[in-house]
Amino acid sequence: MSAESLKVLAKLKTTVRSYFPDAPLEIIDRAFAFSEKAHEKQKRSSGDPYIIHPTEVALSLAEMNLDIATIITGLLHDTVEDTGVTLEEIQVNFGKDVAELVDGVTKLSKITFRTTEEKQAENFRKMIIAMAKDIRVILVKLADRLNNMRTLKYLAPEKQQRIAQETLDIYAPIANRLGIGWLKIELEDLCLRYLHPDVYTKLGELVAKKKAVRDKFIESFTELLKERLEEYEIKAQISGRAKHFFSIYKKMDRRKVDFDQIHDLIAFRIVVDNITECYKSLGVIHAAFKPVPGRFKDYIAMPKANSYQSLHTTVIAEGGDRIEIQIRTQEMNSVADSGIAAHWKYKEGRFVAKTTGGKSNENVEWVNRLLEWNKDLSDPAEFLETVKIDLFAEDVFVFTPKGEVKELPYGATPLDFAYCVHTNVGNMCVGAKVNGKIVPLKYRLKSGDTIEVITNPQGQPSKDWLKIVKTSRAKAKIRAVIKQQERDRALQIGKDLLEKALKPFGLSQSKIEKSGDFDRLWKDHLSLRSPDELFIGLGYGRIYPERAIEFIVPKDAQEKKLELAKGADETFLKKVLNAAKRKTESKNAILVADLDDILIRFGRCCSPLPGDSIVGFITRGRGVTVHTSTCTKAIDSDQARRVDVQWNRGTVSTGLRRQVRIRILCLDQPGLLAVMSQTISACSVNISSANIRTTKDKKAIAVFDVEVADIQQLTKVTSALEGKKGVISVERVKS
Ligand code: MN
Repeated sequence: MSAESLKVLAKLKTTVRSYFPDAPLEIIDRAFAFSEKAHEKQKRSSGDPYIIHPTEVALSLAEMNLDIATIITGLLHDTVEDTGVTLEEIQVNFGKDVAELVDGVTKLSKITFRTTEEKQAENFRKMIIAMAKDIRVILVKLADRLNNMRTLKYLAPEKQQRIAQETLDIYAPIANRLGIGWLKIELEDLCLRYLHPDVYTKLGELVAKKKAVRDKFIESFTELLKERLEEYEIKAQISGRAKHFFSIYKKMDRRKVDFDQIHDLIAFRIVVDNITECYKSLGVIHAAFKPVPGRFKDYIAMPKANSYQSLHTTVIAEGGDRIEIQIRTQEMNSVADSGIAAHWKYKEGRFVAKTTGGKSNENVEWVNRLLEWNKDLSDPAEFLETVKIDLFAEDVFVFTPKGEVKELPYGATPLDFAYCVHTNVGNMCVGAKVNGKIVPLKYRLKSGDTIEVITNPQGQPSKDWLKIVKTSRAKAKIRAVIKQQERDRALQIGKDLLEKALKPFGLSQSKIEKSGDFDRLWKDHLSLRSPDELFIGLGYGRIYPERAIEFIVPKDAQEKKLELAKGADETFLKKVLNAAKRKTESKNAILVADLDDILIRFGRCCSPLPGDSIVGFITRGRGVTVHTSTCTKAIDSDQARRVDVQWNRGTVSTGLRRQVRIRILCLDQPGLLAVMSQTISACSVNISSANIRTTKDKKAIAVFDVEVADIQQLTKVTSALEGKKGVISVERVKS
């Protein structure tokens, strides 16, 4: 046992007791002993026994007045990662809460930040917050990082640089977002020390050199401020301090100035009783000293996203020095120092996190306040990131194999990731590995996953992917490819169709191309932009082959030429010539997936009614034919031509009527036909034909062709008929 670590342990317990008088200190002793034993064989780079590190981390957490579970987690945070200790052991010894916190910290330790791109840093910070799930996990991680930074001098220079850069990019900003001012400042200054040692040393000298002068100045200016405020009966605590190195460095860097040109090294803080006094003090100070224009900031009326509130101003003191002054209440001061930790409250024997959990009213209020403040925030990204602490469940953050972080919505799959990387990666995706293991394409990504997309140049998106992907980007890209595929198919069908239509007249595409008729057809006659548009139009059924024939072959010659043509496919041609005459009334009743403006026909075999389950098939030259999904013709059709169709609910009630045939078996009674006709008409259904015949066994079979709007109306008719005396059965039959 090391004396040093025991000293820290004692300090830890004193600190905990200071804000939690009845704290169960024996648990702390137990966790210390447990951790010390687990880390027994390890040493810090400094040569100290390892236990000093977790104990100091726990002490930092105690200095933030955190709850016992967090303190214990601080003591145990490296045991699962570095030693043979399991989460089960931790749960058995210290409970579920601690086990979950240690698990969270361990998971965070496993991910590393590998790029220096600012955008990536932003995503990585979000990832940390998203993965932590519990704000206490982040606080432990920050305390861990702080201790590592404080002991960084024992590491090799390259390691120092890497860790300092990561701290500056990731952890100091997180501390800032959480509003923990002191931690952000200390981390930044430590980073400066390792990243720019020359600047750090020089600033240190400068600040030290002027220390005596500065101390005297602070004393006299404090006195001056106090006097002025007392004249107006404002009670205030006033403190002056040298600004932290990193903020001076940033200022120098931003203004491109040298050390000598940095005058405002000192900042004053005035803490008063209430908000009224804040503004009153500001008035008093501005009356006494000349304020620097443009330097006044009212973060009380418009708090920062991280809850920071204060008045900021810069005034010019006698002698011309610029003095920065912050004015705030005691409460604002504690939020500025401890941030989110200041929202923790010791209530009825336990600590309650006011800002996490998502259920308490106070928490909702906190988010609402953030939303309100957002109106005045200059940087919406800053706001969003803060709120995400509460709302992070909506996103996942994953790695590319190169260590880049990608943000995807919750529920995203490897396909979404592939399309997020690049459209071609998505289109050629044939599989995916997550953390080195092959997963199905519908696997749901988790924060921290590393995804590797397996591609094949021959790979192609499939329609089923639309059901798997979550992001609209992926959906749009997949739809575009499918649309292109269908366009290509329509184009081929169109070419085929034109060739067939021309053949009876002894013509072919190449012949009419030579004669110039082809160009005149698509350009002048049909006003299209390209020959492809003609073929696609033919393929989709938007243009009838007849229109081409009409134009190319003079009308009077059509019939004659038809007779002359050898090997003419007469039936086919008749079909072509008749196609135009068919009404397209049904077009708007059906929605075809991914295809616009397409001719719709209903299979006469099954006569689908709105409400029936339906399927569509692309047909040569006549758009899409719709069958009921149980129709034998649909089952026998080429499944490659199958397209998704659905009833357009908006047009069902617009008066479209479909004809269906119903067959009624009944007893042969006089007047039955009249009864049935009346029954059908009473349902507002039109009868287009009726037929009745009798059978030998004194029964009658009536067949009606009726016009109904949808399946509901048909059901109404059939059940009305079934209810009539003498009716044995009613069924819908093929016409
Ligand atoms: Mn650690």
